[in-house]
Amino acid sequence: MNYEFRDDEFWKQIPAWKDVTREEFGDHKWQLKNSVTKVAKIADMFDGTLPAELIADIEEGQVQTPMNVRITPYIFALIDWSNPYKDPLLKQFLPLGSQFLPNHPYHMDDSLHEDVDSPVPLLTHRYPDKVLFLPTTVCPVYCSYCTRSRLVGGTTDTKNKETYGANVKNWEPAFEYLRNHPEVEDVVISGGDAFMLKASLIKILGETLLDIPNIRRIRFATKGVAIFPQKILTDEDWMEALTDVHKKAVSMGKAAVIHTHFSSPNEITKWSQLAMDRLHGMGMIVRNQAVLQEGVNNSYEEMHKLVKQLSYINIQPYYVYQHDMVPGCEHFRTTVGEACRLESKIRGTTAGFNMPLIICDLPEGGGKRPIHSYFYYDEEIGISAWRAPLVKEGKVFYYYDPIVKLKPEIQDKWNDETLRDQMVEDFKKKAAEVMEAKDAYEKEVLKDSGVAEQA
Ligand SMILES: *Cc1c(COP(=O)(O)O)cnc(C)c1O
Ligand code: SF4
Repeated sequence: MNYEFRDDEFWKQIPAWKDVTREEFGDHKWQLKNSVTKVAKIADMFDGTLPAELIADIEEGQVQTPMNVRITPYIFALIDWSNPYKDPLLKQFLPLGSQFLPNHPYHMDDSLHEDVDSPVPLLTHRYPDKVLFLPTTVCPVYCSYCTRSRLVGGTTDTKNKETYGANVKNWEPAFEYLRNHPEVEDVVISGGDAFMLKASLIKILGETLLDIPNIRRIRFATKGVAIFPQKILTDEDWMEALTDVHKKAVSMGKAAVIHTHFSSPNEITKWSQLAMDRLHGMGMIVRNQAVLQEGVNNSYEEMHKLVKQLSYINIQPYYVYQHDMVPGCEHFRTTVGEACRLESKIRGTTAGFNMPLIICDLPEGGGKRPIHSYFYYDEEIGISAWRAPLVKEGKVFYYYDPIVKLKPEIQDKWNDETLRDQMVEDFKKKAAEVMEAKDAYEKEVLKDSGVAEQA
């Protein structure tokens, strides 16, 4: 199948940009300078043609979202402004007040315990041979559903943050830690977003990491390819730095790759294809990590389209994340059952290496697990129980489905503290019994296989 990606002058639908030429729109400096960071400006950009209730709803969204507004003109113009209430891009970057739901009672600011599992500042070391490094807290766009809303972007009405820009001096303890931990081979450079690191910093960071003998693989995690492809096409200094790091890695027999973050097929256009042609042409491997989101990509049609189109432009769909249990995101979350059904439907629709693994990154730092690998799930009450023997032996982790998706009589129980406590306690007791029975069976039947004590 051949895809003809969108190549029209879609930004001209925004009155403020009706005279912007293709060349201007394609320039990374123009994109940065015209990024939308103030909701108050939006009405003017449309010459007052947007309905007043939509503007009010956008403003109300700002009171509730834990994230700042920052949207590249590219994404802002791809929003279908004639149908905003159904638009997957608007929902992600400019959420409406009317979309929000109360937080789940068990939501957590640092749901993944990234700060708990941090041996030195900016570094999370949870798995034996790979680490997560957060060199900056700024991004070229801010996603309302960000799992790191506790630290990414600036302070909002609902969240106080200590934002940090990139500062090489602050990176030294992390480098030192990596030099002293030869078991670490793999560094995920995330944030924040590596797209916001200056060319000189990309080079310093990439080369310093590659020079550590035990580091074999680095990944720049960036949403940039998805929301700001113009930078790849026109920021020559930045591309030169990336190319240098990539070449150095290859010359050392190591790997430097990009992990990007497309969540909706509406983010893919001819610009994405051209940017990918450039990255692919220089031998850069690009993989994708999407977040499963209600009304964005949780239908078979949307997910299938996303997977097929990413594959077409040489981006490997790597992960789809079950939404983390962070604040301000209840309207984005889906149930584990839904995610499992989506997984069964989508598997096999294209090459296995382009099939994303749907994973749940377990609350309280259990790490990533395939979505169907819970050991017990009561879908009716929306609680699943999981184990992560490699990461935290012996601990049981729980994921809670969004309450709004449960039956009304179950929702009533969740909304009554006494009934809720009883329901959760009963579930945990049942899960413990199931776990014991499984362990006993495995001990008896699999006693020589070496996996008996594991999940
Ligand atoms: C996701 C993550 C990694 C990388 O895991 P992969 O499964 O290799 O993509 C490393 N460290 C932490 C803390 C993570 O959350
Ligand atoms: S780009 Fe990534 S880190 Fe930045 S706001 Fe979006 S999800 Fe969060």
